[in-house]
Amino acid sequence: MRRVGVLALQGGYAPHEAALADLGVEAAQVRRPADLVGLDGLVLPGGESGAQLRLIERADLRGPLDAFARSGRPILATCAGLILAARRVTHPAQGSFGWLDVEVERNAWGRQVESFEAESDEGGLPLVFIRAPRIRVVGPAAQVMVRWRGEPVVVRQGAVIGAACHPELTADRRIHVIAFGQGESAWRAAS
Ligand code: GLN
Repeated sequence: MRRVGVLALQGGYAPHEAALADLGVEAAQVRRPADLVGLDGLVLPGGESGAQLRLIERADLRGPLDAFARSGRPILATCAGLILAARRVTHPAQGSFGWLDVEVERNAWGRQVESFEAESDEGGLPLVFIRAPRIRVVGPAAQVMVRWRGEPVVVRQGAVIGAACHPELTADRRIHVIAFGQGESAWRAAS
């Protein structure tokens, strides 16, 4: 059985553990560098990205997480996780890993629609947004996987997938399957 880590310092990591269980993948909580050893993939969950950054520094996880991504193993980064994975973060600006060639603006959907549900432009993917970032720029190294109203909401670069939304909070497992399971064929078959 494959083992996928879920960064468990802050935020919504428990629903990702449940989603991985649905895939028949063993989930392992990651709180310190040693927890990364032997993992086949990693989830960076939603939450508060500034708090997560501070906890990552405090746990000495910054270098090990970066090395994990550079090793080419799959990573699924949702919402705050996407913010951590982005090349550039605004509103407010903060540090990030730069694994995904995107610029994101935090909390950018406006007050009235801070949290909302929608469906992707194609493929009928349910989208849950919670004080979500907006992907403002997609650079040449990244590809758009999913759009809503024409805007990119899920992107990938190599084995790293970043989602502005929360696929773990829906019953649709296609994003987790693409990240850690049978790959793109599952998406095409289901859409
Ligand atoms: N608003 C959060 C941030 O800026 C992200 C929200 C989420 O992960 N649901 O970090």
